[in-house]
Amino acid sequence: MELLREKDHVFLDFDGPVCDVFARLPASEVADRLQRLIEPEVIASSDPFDVLRFAASCGPNAAHVVERQLTRFEGEAVALISPAPGIAEVLRDWRAQGFTVTVVSNNSVDAIRSFLGLHDLVEFVRGISARTTSDPALLKPQPALLDAAVTALGTSPVQCVMVGDSAADILAARAAGVTSIALAKTPAKRRALGALHPDALVTDVADLRLAP
Ligand SMILES: [Mg+2]
Repeated sequence: MELLREKDHVFLDFDGPVCDVFARLPASEVADRLQRLIEPEVIASSDPFDVLRFAASCGPNAAHVVERQLTRFEGEAVALISPAPGIAEVLRDWRAQGFTVTVVSNNSVDAIRSFLGLHDLVEFVRGISARTTSDPALLKPQPALLDAAVTALGTSPVQCVMVGDSAADILAARAAGVTSIALAKTPAKRRALGALHPDALVTDVADLRLAP
């Protein structure tokens, strides 16, 4: 991955590259349970973050209640899963090559910290820039989490690269002035993310290693 060599800091999305957060506690079930908090309003989505965005449009109280419960569900969800195959090796490689890694994620800081601790990945991660409030404007695809990561490192966006598996990662990177690498493991993802013209696209986490 030549593009990485020009950078100092990797911003790594959590859900997808590091683990599949809702593999065991399905996202659709979480979305369904969150919707019950804001009944009688119901939206047709199986994405918990759509429910959070909808709750935020109802007002700060609804958003707060949904966000707190989403944080609990995320904590439950990450206790049931393992790291994505190959990611530990990639993190080890990046550290050996002198990169810093910041997890930049719409998931809650607590869930991410707990998962990294459970799987001995803390030592590979310099920082976590992730959800701490119920305000969707602070989540990807907005650039706020990346901006905060740049500031925390005392660097500039051009020294950073964002690795993520969704459109929100590519769009947030562009808005923050950060180079983007799309991780697209399926043909559908390759089409969807390729259409957004990330700076690079890989189909396997192992492709993110620098050492052969
Ligand atoms: Mg993701």
